[in-house]
Amino acid sequence: MDLGIKGRKAIVCAGSKGLGRGCAMALAQAGVEIVLNARGADALAATANEIMAATGVTVTPVAADITTPEGRAAVLSEAGEVDILVTNAGGPPPGNWRDWSRDDFIAALDANMLAPIAMMQAVLPAMIEQRWGRVVNITSQSVRAPIAQLGLSNSARSGLTGFVAGTSRQVAEYGVNINNLLPGLHATDRAVSLDTGAAKAKGISVEEAKAQREATIPAGRYGTPEEFGATCAFMCSGHAGFMVGQNVMLDGGLNNISI
Ligand code: NAP
Repeated sequence: MDLGIKGRKAIVCAGSKGLGRGCAMALAQAGVEIVLNARGADALAATANEIMAATGVTVTPVAADITTPEGRAAVLSEAGEVDILVTNAGGPPPGNWRDWSRDDFIAALDANMLAPIAMMQAVLPAMIEQRWGRVVNITSQSVRAPIAQLGLSNSARSGLTGFVAGTSRQVAEYGVNINNLLPGLHATDRAVSLDTGAAKAKGISVEEAKAQREATIPAGRYGTPEEFGATCAFMCSGHAGFMVGQNVMLDGGLNNISI
């Protein structure tokens, strides 16, 4: 399927690895020029070069912390006006409700709520002006099916979800579509670190912990960054103009939520 976005330009935040990388690769395969962000310059440059070699599109790396005003300014000044924005950042650590301080919440809110909102506020005016734009926020299954030990993530991402629910409906009439993409368990570094934590807690090997978690997924496996990226690219495509303010769960059936 031709996604109808060849020649457009996207910012992909937190995209040197994992799900963000999958989104950047899929958009580049659809002919979209990419401004690619992550903090670590070496991995970012390597990923930018891999995507350029695989697709032939221009990928401009911007090494910056997207959770800071300075980091966002660096990305936005390099990118200029864009047609597509994919927001993303690392997830807050797991823990226990007794231990979370105000500073812990502020850090989670900065990373997973206020940073994507600030990026949207920066790019939406030009999208509205040109009467076309797409935003996909990478959030989490925990928005619809909260995970107890991920309380910092549940809290921050719920705030972002609320913002998107309202704002997406205010910009839809201008051809600007904002939606959220909710990962379940996907095979990325984040999944390996969660497997490692579960293995330590249960006194089993990382492979056993992974197998136990995979067995809970009706699809019988973790998702891949490639299929996550393909879904993101469709949500950024010319065909997704009637999709407004949705929370698209990509979890292999893990969460049995009927509506
Ligand atoms: P990942 O494999 O660890 O990759 C994270 C990417 O984000 C890396 O490129 C990392 O590069 C970059 N990054 C992290 N913090 C950043 C920051 N402050 N500024 C700019 N770049 C930053 O993670 P993932 O599995 O793709 O997860 C992506 C998001 O989805 C996370 O919020 C995670 O909580 C959420 N999620 C993932 C899963 C899953 O199963 N994978 C499930 C639910 C939710 P640098 O470290 O070099 O900056």
